[in-house]
Amino acid sequence: MILDCAIIGGGPAGLTAGLYTTRGGLENVTMFEKGMPGGQITNSSEIENYPGVTGDISGMDLMMPWPEQCQKFGLKHEMVNVTRITKNGDMFTIHKEDGSTTDSHSVIVGTGSSPRRVGFSGEDEFFGRGVSSCATCDGFFYKGKEVVVIGGGDTALEEALYLAKICSKVYLVHRRDSFRSAPNTVERLKKTENIEIILNSSPDEVYGDKMGVTGIRIKNNDDELRDIEVPGVFVFVGNNINNQTLIQEDGSFLCDLNDAGQVIVDITMKTSLKGLYATGDMRISAPKQVISAAGDGAVAALEVISYVDELLN
Ligand code: FAD
Ligand code: NAP
Repeated sequence: MILDCAIIGGGPAGLTAGLYTTRGGLENVTMFEKGMPGGQITNSSEIENYPGVTGDISGMDLMMPWPEQCQKFGLKHEMVNVTRITKNGDMFTIHKEDGSTTDSHSVIVGTGSSPRRVGFSGEDEFFGRGVSSCATCDGFFYKGKEVVVIGGGDTALEEALYLAKICSKVYLVHRRDSFRSAPNTVERLKKTENIEIILNSSPDEVYGDKMGVTGIRIKNNDDELRDIEVPGVFVFVGNNINNQTLIQEDGSFLCDLNDAGQVIVDITMKTSLKGLYATGDMRISAPKQVISAAGDGAVAALEVISYVDELLN
């Protein structure tokens, strides 16, 4: 069977694309998601800026009903890692890790981004044994203990605030003297008594033993070293764009990307290749918000409905 639309990625962008394509009348739509649908927001301990949603709500809570709502209108879901998208004539082919392929008249890609690593000594060695990029997943292991958080963006500050509620103390280490995060969040950080802010400093080395991390050495901009004895280090230094599915056999990309690897789209999420749409955090100038990713998914879906209609009729 040839799909009307293949959706790659089941975050807020992909799920909303799934809702709008199916509810808008497309019959054969499959969302290919390599893990559980919901996307990276499911790693967030709290979300307070999704319109209409008030109270203490986690990213997981927010996303839980989305897949069910889509399925109600006929969206199919394949849990698989997509390795490559290709196009031959008017037909796209979705290549999957299990070796199978699926053909589709159109594709909406919303594969988001993945946590970046800093590259300090011990970071990879101790990843999963004291070094983490998910406070909601791992914070509980450090209940009543001290931890270090690396980064100065929204994620680092919000997760530092979350960890401060569980841990006895949080050291927030940031390489500059000002934060990228929203001013309101910076204010909350400064007011939190058990958070020590360490500016103009970067991690030099994480060390430990067979059991895991025992400490971190940080270096300030004057090359002065400081050791902090902690069992946990959380790294929140941004994300890399997941554009791997667009890489072709010869190393070129299926559509145009900018230097940062973000997909170039117009205001309707059209890429440089007809029938291919890019949405959410992976596209140029993405506000990197759940609401905007969802909006992209809706915009792309409405475009796809017209595109498929013109192609087939
Ligand atoms: P993603 O959510 O990244 O989803 C992409 C999906 O594609 C993933 O599920 C992934 O598994 C899948 N995928 C990737 N590659 C493949 C492949 N090859 N094959 C199959 N599937 C694939 N935004 C807010 O609005 N408010 C907040 O409070 C907020 N807090 C945040 C806290 C944290 C810790 C983080 C990390 C982000 C936060 N954000 C917040 C940002 C928000 O999560 C993102 O903007 C949003 O999730 C982007 O949605 P997306 O659908 O583009 O991508
Ligand atoms: P980000 O905004 O890119 O911030 C990354 C932080 O890590 C920056 O402070 C950066 O320092 C630091 N950093 C990067 N590389 C580093 C390195 N090698 N060593 C040390 N520090 C390093 O990433 P993010 O915080 O994950 O946020 C991603 C996007 O999601 C943003 O657009 C953000 O607004 C959004 N988001 C929104 C919310 C919300 O709305 N509530 C919550 C979370 C995330 P510099 O500042 O010096 O560059």
